[in-house]
Amino acid sequence: MKKKWALYLGNILGIKVFIHWTFVILLAWVFLMHTQMGHGFSEAIWGVVFILALFVCVIFHEFGHALTAKRYNIQTKDVTVYPIGGVATLESMPRKPKQELMVAFAGPAVNIVIAAALWIYMQLSATMPDWTVLKNVDHMQTESFVFNLFVANIILAVFNLIPAFPMDGGRVLRALLAFKMDRSKATRIAAEVGQFLAILLVFLGFFFNFWLVFIGLFIYLGASSEATYEATHSILEGYDVRKVLMTRFTTLLPNDSLEKAVQILLDGKEQDFLVATDGKVQGVLSRKELIQGLSAFGKSSPVRNSMRTDFTILSPEMSLQDVFSNMTTKGYKVYPVQDKGVLVGMVDKENISELILVQQALSGKKS
Ligand SMILES: [Zn+2]
Repeated sequence: MKKKWALYLGNILGIKVFIHWTFVILLAWVFLMHTQMGHGFSEAIWGVVFILALFVCVIFHEFGHALTAKRYNIQTKDVTVYPIGGVATLESMPRKPKQELMVAFAGPAVNIVIAAALWIYMQLSATMPDWTVLKNVDHMQTESFVFNLFVANIILAVFNLIPAFPMDGGRVLRALLAFKMDRSKATRIAAEVGQFLAILLVFLGFFFNFWLVFIGLFIYLGASSEATYEATHSILEGYDVRKVLMTRFTTLLPNDSLEKAVQILLDGKEQDFLVATDGKVQGVLSRKELIQGLSAFGKSSPVRNSMRTDFTILSPEMSLQDVFSNMTTKGYKVYPVQDKGVLVGMVDKENISELILVQQALSGKKS
């Protein structure tokens, strides 16, 4: 598996770990900043080592989320570290309040544990520095290295616990509210709290630290996208795959040419295709893969070269909410549907979007 702009570091406990390119730029920047300020080579190295140590703490944080999710049978696709923090891509978000609370809280909890361990170490080795070194954090020294890492972990924990999406604290707040009310209402309230805090951060940022303006904007956007996702998700409540199942569809053979798919597309009949032999699905070809295939291989190449072979097979009784979250996290557009091993139809993103639009229009009418 490849990821754009990210370097693959390896597989830890079955989870792929990536580092985003911009993180490497951050390391170079830290190194240059130190030498520029005339701090000398060894301090520049210490600065880089510090960022790397912080990077390890961020990975531990993400594994806190991932391993807790695993306890609830939710797998994690990958963990990617960016300069502003890490992201664990969970296959789905737990929807039970208690589970979401545990998964969201596990990340910051890891940083609290690391901070506590460093504090104990400093006590035992009598290296606990005077708190005044805090004023001098940019001046990296070996003696204050452990202390700086301790402070950084506390900042990580506190920052992530800001009760606003997409921070962990936003999920913690939603989960706590969801014990008392239904999930979509809890999301709405949590999103509003988050947006209020975001505006407050932007405002404070103009007076104190301009970084807060960026963080505020980031949180504001995150809060609204989470609210939209949740609103859409709740519309699909109670529906299963049967509701949007298309039973009239054309299957292509792996050796059919892309031209055949183009012809059906231009006829306006279908946009997405299943590729199957003897009723067994070999791949899916959405409009996107079709267009990409045409530009890469030309119209006479077989669909086999352009089809997507990683796809999820649905069954008719699966809930559309699960399909929707799968669609969002994995970016799939077409799903074959099998009933007891027999191919009975397909579902595509367009169908589900149409159902959502219709339901939105109808619910708007009621109120
Ligand atoms: Zn987190």
